[in-house]
Amino acid sequence: MKRVHIAPTLLDAQLVVDALSSVGIVSHIFNANAAGALGEVPFLQAQPEVWVEDDARAHRAREVLADFLSVKSRAEKICPACGECNPGNFLSCWQCGGLLPD
Ligand SMILES: [Zn+2]
Repeated sequence: MKRVHIAPTLLDAQLVVDALSSVGIVSHIFNANAAGALGEVPFLQAQPEVWVEDDARAHRAREVLADFLSVKSRAEKICPACGECNPGNFLSCWQCGGLLPD
């Protein structure tokens, strides 16, 4: 299992799962129940996460999502160092600390 996306809302997470499913990649949503607790738990931990079942498909999944999300919204930034998806207002990657593009 590899995380490929952090969604701002459960609906966004579901859209991502659907987009991956359409290209034959099986994925799951974690933290689905935490969204209601926003404000009580740290920001990132409260957001739904999308994980792909097959690690070998994670890279392909990120490519699919890069296309999907660039159409849907340009607000998120993909870390050039580790490929992690970051909220658009982040200046550095929350996972590896690398600088994000403007
Ligand atoms: Zn990174």
